[in-house]
Order: sequence, then structure tokens, then C-alpha cells
Amino acid sequence: MTTSRTVTLPSGAVVPALGQGTWHMGDAPDRRAEEIAALRHGIDLGMTLIDTAEMYGGGRAEELVGEAVRGRRDDVFLVSKVLPSNAGTRGTVDSCRASLRRLGTDRIDLYLLHWRGAVPLDETVEALEGLVAEGTIGAWGVSNLDVDDLADLPAGAHPDTDQILYNLTRRGPEYDLVPRCRELAVPLMAYSPVEQGRLLGHEALREVAGAHGATPAQIALAWVLRHEDVIAIPKAGSRAHVEENAAARSNHLTAEDLAALDRAFPPPRQKVPLEML
Ligand code: NAP
Repeated sequence: MTTSRTVTLPSGAVVPALGQGTWHMGDAPDRRAEEIAALRHGIDLGMTLIDTAEMYGGGRAEELVGEAVRGRRDDVFLVSKVLPSNAGTRGTVDSCRASLRRLGTDRIDLYLLHWRGAVPLDETVEALEGLVAEGTIGAWGVSNLDVDDLADLPAGAHPDTDQILYNLTRRGPEYDLVPRCRELAVPLMAYSPVEQGRLLGHEALREVAGAHGATPAQIALAWVLRHEDVIAIPKAGSRAHVEENAAARSNHLTAEDLAALDRAFPPPRQKVPLEML
């Protein structure tokens, strides 16, 4: 297995900084086998953190992940999420059990609240902590929570991550959420790190990529991974994209690269409310 940088979560779990996303996997039946092969190849290349959610394809993505990790469950770190509408005391537990069935496993390593909804955060956190106590999940975390939402978590609650939209075109969190999470020792997990592909034709990114003999996707990922405590979870549905993304771990950006990217994608100068996709 390729050695790669890791991030230690508050619960003590050590995960690779580069993992794999699964949104929309399983949507197209004719791509299913290729997507499973892509995920398995990613595991072989050390991208052993796999992110999914009960929302994705109404459970189809979790079923696909279950098939991809069959026979190698202990090699992977599984992340899934409960929908806000299910995040009450009973609903959180029911959703988790349904996810376990679809994933074909008896534990989820990290279980997140997908975004903040109408259920009070303390109720959801209590349910998540109950799942940790019984060993059904290894740890809990949140997603799409901005600075003020984190302040509303119950006293003493310590999520293992806040999974947020973060890439070169979504730098708002750098203003306050990235530093706040650092103060709280909550590692961030960057979703849509290549902006679902929309970022890849950008001229400045192509220029930096050209100088490194790399691809725009690799530079976009290396840019997210420049933070020691940020995890990135690109979704790739083919072996070729998985290999390309895995190789991003060896691209190191220079001060000149970062300055060029700052000119093209300026960092925030004021608060930008957290965006989500
Ligand atoms: P993404 O990872 O930024 O982009 C995925 C798209 O980029 C796919 O179309 C993929 O194509 C393409 N791609 C991947 N690697 C590429 C490469 N090397 N070269 C060219 N194209 C490449 O977007 P995302 O799927 O929205 O985000 C990643 C994951 O984060 C999701 O899958 C999901 O697990 C998670 N997520 C979480 C939330 C949340 O609210 N918590 C929201 C969104 C996403 P192919 O499939 O053809 O390879």
C-alpha cells in the first residue's frame, strides 16, 4: 500500500488525508461495476477513507460501497451520514441501523449529521453519543456547520470532523471556519474538492499544472491538501481518475504556485456564509 499523509481525528483514529467520495455512485446501472472497481483500486492505493450517506441515491451508494468493501472491511474507514430529517433520538439510531444493513457491516467508523435541520443539535448529539457508547459507530461528526452552528453544539461535545464545501473557488471558510476549527481541534473534511469538475478548465490552474507536469485535478487536490489537518474526499468513478487523484499526494506547491493561485482565486477578506452543494 502507498504510504501517504494521515490525519489523526480527535477520537484517535488515524485516517488518510486523501479519501474517496461516492455521491452519485450507483445512479447509472451501466457504470456500477466500474465504480466499484474504482473504489477498490483507490483502497489499494491507500485512499482507504470512503465517504457516503443515506441520502446518496436513497441508499444506493451505500449498497455499492458495501459491495466494494466486501472481504476487506478492516482495510477501510467508513464515513456515512444521517439526514437532518431523520436526526431525532429514535430516527438517528434507525437510520444508522439501515445504513449498516446497506453497507453490509456492523460498524460505521464515523457517522455525521449531514447538515443542520429542525431537530435540536443536542438531541442529535445525544443520539450519536449513544451509538458511540454501544460501539455501533466509532465516532461522530458534523457536516455543513458554520462557526455559529458549531457554537450551538452542546457543551463538551467534540465532533471528529466538520465536513464542508472547500476548494479553490470556495475559499470562504478560510476567513473564520478554518481557524475556528483549528482552535477547537476539529479537523475539516473538504468535499467537492474539484468543484464537481467545474474547476478543472480554469486557466490559472492549468498553468500551475503545466509547470508541474501534473493535471488540474491533481493541483486542485494538492492545494486542499496543503493544510496538514484537512482531509479531501474527491469522487472518482473510473480507475484512471482514481490513479490521477492518488498521484496528487506527491505534488507539492511552491510559494510561487500558491501566489499565482491566490491571484486567480482570491482568499476571502470578510465573512462568507458557508456554502453547500
Ligand atoms: P468532486 O469530488 O469535486 O467532483 C467529482 C467529479 O469530478 C466527478 O464528475 C468526477 O468524474 C470528476 N473527477 C474526479 N477526479 C477527476 C480527475 N482526476 N479528472 C477529471 N475529473 C475528475 O465532487 P463531489 O462528488 O460533489 O464531492 C466529493 C464527495 O464529497 C462526494 O462524492 C460526497 O461523498 C461528498 N460530499 C458531501 C457533501 C455534504 O453535504 N456533506 C456534499 C457534496 C459532496 P468521474 O466520476 O467520471 O470520475
